[in-house]
Amino acid sequence: MEALALERRAEQNRELRERLLQLKKERNAIILAHYYQRDEIQEVADFRGDSFLLAQKAAETDADVIVFCGVHFMGESAKILAPNKIVLVPDERAGCPMADMVNPAGLRELKAKHPNAKVVTYINSSADVKAETDICCTSSNAVKVVNSIDAEEIIWCPDKNLGHWVQQQTGKKMIIWEGYCNTHDMLTLKDVVEMRAKYPNAQFVVHPECRPEVVAMADYVGSTTGILKYCRESDCKEFIVGTEDGTGYQLRLDSPDKTFHFASKYLVCPNMKVNNLKKVVRCLETMQPQIYVPEDVADKARLSLMRMLQVK
Ligand code: SF4
Repeated sequence: MEALALERRAEQNRELRERLLQLKKERNAIILAHYYQRDEIQEVADFRGDSFLLAQKAAETDADVIVFCGVHFMGESAKILAPNKIVLVPDERAGCPMADMVNPAGLRELKAKHPNAKVVTYINSSADVKAETDICCTSSNAVKVVNSIDAEEIIWCPDKNLGHWVQQQTGKKMIIWEGYCNTHDMLTLKDVVEMRAKYPNAQFVVHPECRPEVVAMADYVGSTTGILKYCRESDCKEFIVGTEDGTGYQLRLDSPDKTFHFASKYLVCPNMKVNNLKKVVRCLETMQPQIYVPEDVADKARLSLMRMLQVK
């Protein structure tokens, strides 16, 4: 019975993939997929990446339509960087709770208290918040971005865990917003201690959105792209992974001879998993839902994103 259901599912996915190829050609579309998306989406993507790589792709593409498979703020960033393109998302309910933890009014209030500070905002934020920002960053380039800033004080938002790690790496004076990623923040020291005991030969690699005490346990700390590179290039054959479970798709593709244990069963972002292959096909059929960003907000937010893309 189960085998029959699996076969039916595989057949449905085959049909969906064929329909997708046809629609992509008709619409001159590309599919960008975040590493945290379901495997069935990563399999059909033209580009897989973290927020930084995908923002770069969106800015560079010749396609008329960008299907952004990730969460809402990522679609917004693509639209800001490519305002003349149509940006579609498979499901507009795919939001990011961390991005919602900061709003423009709150940020303006903090800026008023620290008038000489520069504002660095993690790309995991709304267009409105980016519009109040001097420069954006991702976890791939956060240290470089903060080091590039010539200011006594830096207002950092919204992720406190990433903020503390960046502060440690750069030694800068940072006023850190109290936001966090519900998924990465769920990983505890106890989880890691247990996993280390269970897999004593494995190295522990972790995303800096995790809690500081968890990050302190790691053999390697870095963005999703950094983790992928480290695991690909390392001589070690076994890893405990402290980031979202969708990363397993690319890890296994890059290193089929290595073993990856996710550090907790809770490392699954429910928002990222709202999207599925059927919704990707449907959004290209209906050309909905599209991402819109008001022009005045987009113009200001673009400056903060462009400044980030220029940091070498
Ligand atoms: S993994 Fe965390 S930061 Fe990323 S979309 Fe999910 S909640 Fe937001």
